[in-house]
Amino acid sequence: MHNVVIIGSGCAGLTAAIYAARANLKPLVIDGYEPGGQLTLTTMVENFPGFPDGILGPELIEHMRRQAQRFGAEFRAGAVTGVDFTNRPFQITVGREIFRGKTVIVAAGASARMLGLEAERQLIGHGVSTCATCDGFFFRGKEIVVVGGGDTAMEEALFLTRFASRVHLIHRRREFRATKIMLDRARANGKIHFITPAVVEDISDVGKNSVEAVLLRDLETAQKSELLVEGVFVAIGHEPNTKVFRSILDTDENGYLSTRNGSQTNIQGVFAAGDVQDHHYRQAVTAAGSGCMAAMDAEKFLEATGH
Ligand code: NDP
Repeated sequence: MHNVVIIGSGCAGLTAAIYAARANLKPLVIDGYEPGGQLTLTTMVENFPGFPDGILGPELIEHMRRQAQRFGAEFRAGAVTGVDFTNRPFQITVGREIFRGKTVIVAAGASARMLGLEAERQLIGHGVSTCATCDGFFFRGKEIVVVGGGDTAMEEALFLTRFASRVHLIHRRREFRATKIMLDRARANGKIHFITPAVVEDISDVGKNSVEAVLLRDLETAQKSELLVEGVFVAIGHEPNTKVFRSILDTDENGYLSTRNGSQTNIQGVFAAGDVQDHHYRQAVTAAGSGCMAAMDAEKFLEATGH
């Protein structure tokens, strides 16, 4: 029986773990599908306060994890496959194991959105990627595409220019969701070639188990064209990891968990923190802040209910 079970080990989950551990609650953290969350997929983080020279995302996460462990947080590998929040203690299933918690903090984060093409599904890991930091190295000297028009797409495209000979940035509109500074940086980079408004309709060659080209459709002229590339980076945003909670916890129309009075969900004693409940700010520092809030809310709840 745990006082606090934290689902997710990204910035939000680990900050909740630090706070809960320091409150002597001995939290259990369940790592999830992507231990360390999205920060582990980034390179330099320059906007997390306290690091004037920046810090690598994976390093920042490692620090947070060690900090939580130092105060007594426990960690379990694996992803949550089911939850029963009908009665306290709550039950959290991870494969064959069941954990029981007096309170739960859901900090399961969000995952990369995909284009939905069959070829994309088949070629993921074979030329199709959602993580420039993880896979950029494999595209040294190669021509690639990045799909998307937000900050992630700009950031990935800029990062990939370190390796790729040319980066084609495909976006479905002429206007960009990306912030001006990121867009300007991408536009100023001679290796990045913008193709708008266009969509990727197909990726070949599934038969050869590698990316050889993308089929593009110009959305103004409807003209189709083939672009010879060896890599496709999908950078079109994220989906909250809330599937396992959907019939149980209230969500908004996009599936993000709804919270009130800080981090409270619709079930007393179940709290939510980080990107799983935030589609607006989505920053490491805001995720950390909301992890802190959730741990303090859980602590207060335990106190009020006499543990
Ligand atoms: P966004 O939701 O901001 O952008 C997603 C982009 O992908 C949009 O341009 C969207 O097009 C496009 N898109 C969505 N679905 C499809 C599809 N099926 N086919 C083609 N294109 C599609 O997500 P991001 O991940 O870029 O950014 C999320 C948040 O994180 C933002 O707030 C951003 O500012 C922040 N961020 C900040 C960074 C930084 O400051 N360094 C780095 C990375 C992210 P459309 O515009 O037409 O909807």
